[in-house]
Amino acid sequence: MNVADSEVVLSVLDSAGYVRTPELGRADVILVNTCAVRENAEQRIYGRLGDFRHIRKSNPGVVVGVLGCMAERLRKDLMASDSSVDIVVGPDEYRRLPELVDQAINGEKGIAVRLSRVENYDDIVPLRTDGISAWVSVMRGCDKFCTFCVVPFTRGRERSRSLPSVTREIAGLLERGFREVTLLGQNVNSYRDEDGNHDFADLLGSVAHLDPSLRVRFTTSHPQDMSDKLIATIAAHGNICNYIHLPVQSGSDRILRLMNRTYTRRHYLDLVERIRRQIPQVSLSTDIIAGFPTETDIDHQQTLELIRDIEYDGAFTFKYSPRENTKAWHMGDDVPDNVKIARLNEIIDLQRRISFRRNQAMIGQTVEVLIEGSSRKSAEDFSGRTDTNKMVVFPKGQSEIGQFRMFRIEQANSATLFGSPVETEAHVPIAVNE
Ligand code: SAH
Ligand code: SF4
Repeated sequence: MNVADSEVVLSVLDSAGYVRTPELGRADVILVNTCAVRENAEQRIYGRLGDFRHIRKSNPGVVVGVLGCMAERLRKDLMASDSSVDIVVGPDEYRRLPELVDQAINGEKGIAVRLSRVENYDDIVPLRTDGISAWVSVMRGCDKFCTFCVVPFTRGRERSRSLPSVTREIAGLLERGFREVTLLGQNVNSYRDEDGNHDFADLLGSVAHLDPSLRVRFTTSHPQDMSDKLIATIAAHGNICNYIHLPVQSGSDRILRLMNRTYTRRHYLDLVERIRRQIPQVSLSTDIIAGFPTETDIDHQQTLELIRDIEYDGAFTFKYSPRENTKAWHMGDDVPDNVKIARLNEIIDLQRRISFRRNQAMIGQTVEVLIEGSSRKSAEDFSGRTDTNKMVVFPKGQSEIGQFRMFRIEQANSATLFGSPVETEAHVPIAVNE
């Protein structure tokens, strides 16, 4: 989401005549886009701001700005007179950046952190570098108020972009050669186009119709709002990926209630069953928090049991991090750190074993991969993903970036599949079988 927001920021600054430099040392303006969802994300930013102090020594005129969720949350700290920050701009105020940067160049510190009920940057075309895969923000903010989460406070109320504006943007990406888009929102399932009264299933279907060879992904789905219509839309379109990120957070009904997640374990399990019935090839991932206030070992065991029952393909796991102003903040932070870490490790170990087993079961299968670029671990290999979001690594050979190609899976560990090319034509997904 921050990558997508940074592309909006680049577009705003580009229109004002600024150009991007790859060299930090040569920049006249340095902006950091921040995340406030957990404390360690914030600590990392303080570290980066420390680095910029050195740059300021050699380049005293440089303007340093903090953007995004931390800006909103920590504006007082960031703007303290001894701080090296010149401007602080929240997620709904990016249109004002050129004005604030100009003022800062003239020595005036600036702050703009008002949250808006309407700003969705619908008319701003994000400035992207050419590539294979693009993030496309379709809505902003969140109205869910999960008790642990700072997002509704830092990013404000939920609002959607219009359907035509999203499809227009993606049509432009297709023309530029992009092969995959990921539609983004904190809870895409509550997307609603104010003008046309379209829901997320309509939006997803419209994007999929643009071009049958465009891969369409989306994140994040809240389990409470995942409709049968949406499941049917995913099942009906060959180019909507068979992959759903469905954060559960906990397997304990008591903790889910305290988290205000508004669903029960039963509801979640039923939903997964419906999804798997209608989309048999689907892969599922989740988010889990270990050590939420009052979490007992019994609650934790229920989370492990749920993970075992569902057998996710992957999970993003987090140690509970208390966030000021949230409801959970007032519940205290009573699970000792060593217990949180032990639970987190148990969750990670269990999921790793499940991912390993599920990936091993793919050995011998032939899968279609969208080739994304060089493998991070080896310059001789490319990597790409299956439509179920599994990473496949393979020798570069005759392959090209941006190509859909078939691979036979030869080896697998818990994170990666290793393949060799199969000389059959990769099928361009058929768009619809409604
Ligand atoms: N809107 C998305 C999640 C956004 S934040 C959703 O509801 O699924 C991404 C993940 O960070 C959350 O799913 C949650 O697992 C984790 N998270 C959010 N706040 C947290 C906190 N205070 N401590 C630990 N993890 C947190
Ligand atoms: Fe945060 Fe819950 Fe909204 Fe996700 S749905 S952003 S966890 S409040």
